[in-house]
This record gives sequence, structure tokens and C-alpha cells, in this order.
Amino acid sequence: MPAQKLKDFSKLCIHTITTKPWDIETAVKKYAAAGVKGITIWRQWLEGRDLRQTRKMIHDEGLEVVSLCRGGFFPAKTTGGRQEAIDENKRAIEEAHQIGAPLIVLVCGAVPGQPLEDSRKQIQDGISALLDEARDANVKLAIEPLHPMYADDRSAINTLKQANDLCETLNDPAVGVAVDVYHLWWDPDLQREIQRCGKADNLLAFHICDWRTPTVDLLNDRGLMGEGCINIREIRGWVEDAGFSGFNEVEIFSNRWWGADQDEFLQEIKRAYLKNA
Ligand code: ZN
Repeated sequence: MPAQKLKDFSKLCIHTITTKPWDIETAVKKYAAAGVKGITIWRQWLEGRDLRQTRKMIHDEGLEVVSLCRGGFFPAKTTGGRQEAIDENKRAIEEAHQIGAPLIVLVCGAVPGQPLEDSRKQIQDGISALLDEARDANVKLAIEPLHPMYADDRSAINTLKQANDLCETLNDPAVGVAVDVYHLWWDPDLQREIQRCGKADNLLAFHICDWRTPTVDLLNDRGLMGEGCINIREIRGWVEDAGFSGFNEVEIFSNRWWGADQDEFLQEIKRAYLKNA
């Protein structure tokens, strides 16, 4: 059964990349003033910032840090390249710890021309190499399966089943899954795999936006909820039925919306959230 309409913003989180023209200070102030309760921070927004000070600013504005985006990109053609990726992910874990993010979203990576099976093995090895640090820092790692159109260079993990399989193989409480409707809405096994994910206690995050027709840019043409064909509320219902009670994270990469007035966009997000999420 589809979920009830959302009645308030207590579970609304926005990714800083959604309002790309705003720096972290502006985003935090504007989100808080708009009644948004959660923020997922993309690492670029922390460049040159004192993390302790930024953490305090977010806390003082009454926002909760939901996730840090993003880690991953484990596959590489050379051992050195793969080690670099692991080191970079360790830095991300340290940042998450310092900024108070309980979770890092992993875009797992892929290398054009390298067999996906090889990349998947490298992803598994890469995540394994981070488990001690993640546990020590009290930071979870959320594997985000990406739409198969990104299997060439962004992620060799393309279905929720693959993410569930990997989690269950790694079998570590520090690892789970981020479900993003943009990547997974088309999957005929989605409801079943969401149930499986929840049952195994692996469902850590829920990202929303919409799929536009036509999609004119593979990366930066995501729609606001209601602008596309995804039945977001139905999927949210599945996620909630699977035991998830965390934030609904609005994650929209859109040249169109980034070119608009961001204050108006934020109001549109709130309207669309109540109407279509
Ligand atoms: Zn996402």
C-alpha cells in the first residue's frame, strides 16, 4: 500500500548539491529558516572549512547531519590506484566523524573497459579495507546502487539485489545500503529487495527526486518530485514497511534548477515534498 502523504518537514533532508549555487553557510541558514531538518553534505562543501566550527554552526541552526557524500570509487587498473582510493575513503571517514555524519554514501566506482566482475571484486576488497576505520569512527558505509546507465565509469553495483548481496557477503554492521529512487525505480524486484534489505537491517538511507522524460543529460537532469514518472510515494511506502524511519533526502542534480533562483527552488522543493513524495 502506498504511504500516507507527508504532512510536515520533520523528515525532510536536502543534499547540499541540490542547491549547488549555495555554499555550506548559506545552505544551512536557508534550510533551517525553511524548516528543513536534515542536511546531507557533499565533501566539496567542506573544502577550506574548519570542520568543528561548521559542525557547531549546523547544530546551532537545529539541523541534523544525515550523511556525508560521497566515498567509493574503489576500482582502478593498478594496485596503487586502488590503494589511493582506500586512502581517500579513510579521509572521508575521518571527515564524517569530525562533522558528525553517521553515514557515508558510497558511489562504488567502475573503470571503462574493465570487466564489471573485476570491478565488483575490487569494490568488495575496498570496502573490506575500511571496516575497522568505519567501526572505530562510528561511521556507517552505505552502498548506493546506481542506475545501469552509469555502469561504465561510476558504479558496477547497479541493482539493489547486488548491493544486498554485497552487504550480506561482507556481513558487517558498518555496511548497509542507500536506496535512491532515481537509480532503482525501474527494477521489477525492487519491492522484494527493499524488504530483504530492511530485514537484514541494511537499509540506511533513502534518496528522492524524479526521472524526467526526456532526460536530456545523463547526470544533471534530475527532476523535482512530481516532474517525472517515478512513483515516489509507493517506493517510500515499501521503504517504511521495511522498517526505515530515517530522513527523506532530496538529491537533485539539475542544470535547470541550479540556474533558477535558489530561494524559489527551496520553496518548490517543500511544495513538491508534501504533494508528491
Ligand atoms: Zn543518491
